[in-house]
Amino acid sequence: MRFPPIVPGFSQLIHGGDYNPDQWMDMEVWKEDMRIAKAMGINSLSVGIFSWTALEPREGEYSFGWLDTILDMMAAQGMKAMLATPSGARPAWLSQKYPEVLRVSEDGLRNQHGGRHNHCLSSPVYREKVQKINTLLAERYKDHPALGAWHISNEYGGECFCPLCQERFRQWLQRKYDSLDALNHAWWTAFWSHTYTDWSQIEAPSRRGETSVHGQKLDWKRFTTEQFIDFYRAETEPLKRITPNVPCTTNLMGTYPGIDYFALAKALDFASWDNYPQWTGYTKDDVPLAAETAFKHDLMRGVKQRPFFLMESCPSATNWRPYARLHRPGVHILQSLQAVGHGADSVQYFQFRKSRGSSEKLHGAVVDHVGHEHTRVNEEIARLGSMLQGLSGVVGQDTPAKAALLYDWQNAWALNDAQGLNNVDKKYFDTVMDHYRALWSQGVQLDILSEDADLAGYDLVVAPMLYMVREGLGQRLRAFVEAGGTLMSTFGSGYVDENDLCYLGGFPGPLRATLGIWCEEIDVLLPGESNEILYHGQRYRLFDYAEQLHLEGAVSLAEYRKDFYAGKPALTVNALGKGRAYFLAGRLEDGFMRAFYQDLLAEAGIERFELPYGCSLALRGEGEEEYAFLLNFAAEACKVNLSGVDALSGERLEAVELEGHGVRVLKRLKRG
Ligand SMILES: [Zn+2]
Repeated sequence: MRFPPIVPGFSQLIHGGDYNPDQWMDMEVWKEDMRIAKAMGINSLSVGIFSWTALEPREGEYSFGWLDTILDMMAAQGMKAMLATPSGARPAWLSQKYPEVLRVSEDGLRNQHGGRHNHCLSSPVYREKVQKINTLLAERYKDHPALGAWHISNEYGGECFCPLCQERFRQWLQRKYDSLDALNHAWWTAFWSHTYTDWSQIEAPSRRGETSVHGQKLDWKRFTTEQFIDFYRAETEPLKRITPNVPCTTNLMGTYPGIDYFALAKALDFASWDNYPQWTGYTKDDVPLAAETAFKHDLMRGVKQRPFFLMESCPSATNWRPYARLHRPGVHILQSLQAVGHGADSVQYFQFRKSRGSSEKLHGAVVDHVGHEHTRVNEEIARLGSMLQGLSGVVGQDTPAKAALLYDWQNAWALNDAQGLNNVDKKYFDTVMDHYRALWSQGVQLDILSEDADLAGYDLVVAPMLYMVREGLGQRLRAFVEAGGTLMSTFGSGYVDENDLCYLGGFPGPLRATLGIWCEEIDVLLPGESNEILYHGQRYRLFDYAEQLHLEGAVSLAEYRKDFYAGKPALTVNALGKGRAYFLAGRLEDGFMRAFYQDLLAEAGIERFELPYGCSLALRGEGEEEYAFLLNFAAEACKVNLSGVDALSGERLEAVELEGHGVRVLKRLKRG
């Protein structure tokens, strides 16, 4: 299916980035910026992200003239603005006059003025001031032809431990639990005499106080997510009222652990995110990183189940990385079209014009300090700009996925907080990536879903380390399998419920009957240790975890070959209704994962492709409108035995030759 464009009526792929004209305030600079933007094929700029002081230099004294000029200049060349609300950083006068807007750290200390992203989300003064400036922006620009979308604040994150936030936490808990008995049970507070007898006794968990009550820590994280949702709703109230047809987003950060993005995304009109992979280019194998980046794009598409914006990326060196390495030739186009292939309807940068001073002065940009566009980086940006123009048919195209992978923030919070298993690193993300990589490397299109998602329409659901199984999920997975679906589950699953209370009566709790196994114990392998299994006569290494299973209807497909559990099942399958449920008891090396999934995909009837190592295939659209992105993340050239028509040149290709870091976009991809 095809979604309407994110910016209403604007059916091109967005190309642009964060622009800070208020750092320059010079008409000659601005004119030059517009000229260079045009030369680069840039059709959008994100403005006003940290501009509060430029807009309101003194309380109640406003200065919109510079922004009027910039938006007029953008409109004159047909560009769309991602117009930001300025709440990501605030004026010094605001912190000085109203210290309650300053965030309080976990240690109970109120921050001083400085930095950014450090306001209290509960502060009535901060909310009022944000609403006021947002109202003025919306009223002033509601009919401006350049207004394309609202960019709300910037990279929401962090926590505040001030008295206002603590009180809101208590109120949130009272609404959630109604009674202290219910809270004490959910948090299992009889442990260490932690039972609460009055709501006022409850505080946010912190290193100065509570660190051991897992249910409490989990609720604090959920509350923090709710704080951001509530703040977002307050921020966008005037925008939704005054400009109801202008879509709103806030830029997310992939797998950032502090906010449940599936929950936050419900409030957004569309998702957008900031992508900064540290490509090495030649000296190290970038293929695992390419898979990880693909996963994050799929996740950002998954939070809204529709195309998203790549709101920030870097065309050259990312200055805050330990080693601010340059992108090798071709890598900028490669990473940008990877995003588009996985569902992005934009390629946007941080930043358009490089700052002259302060901490972002050495961060890659479109306009470098040299001041003109005759640079190596600009040559690649301009080339990408014209490619994006040629690919405007991609806008709004969905990703046709028959396989889904469950990735869940609440599960990660509970799992990573558990004392037990591997306390150095639970390896949740690594395990998710083991499965994702095996599918990605075979060109399988995947949707990334939370535990709460609807599973209808999928043939395969992969659920790695589903430690927390929330109410209802066990039944839904069972129904999915009975109806003919294939479920892939792993070690570390079905331990706790939504309150982080262990399931009684045998793991994997609500998945036990579906998987046809009982997990009696789990062994943790030390770094460097491995067990092994035989699969189709081939030996494969197993590491990190070894769950100890009993078969309760399932059949063993492979057994451990070492240690006191040699001969016990390590890979099982249970036939249930019209479907099958698989269970893998430990982490297995990539060779096994690939071989195993090849069989599983054939059995489940899911399309796969034979691709050279490092080459990936991302599909958007269907039939005549299908676009196939072939992306080579290896530094060496490769040949892919797929034929189709080059979407940009119209050339018919019987096979695709890709240079190192090369990309081709095909239409009319021939199967078989
Ligand atoms: Zn606060």
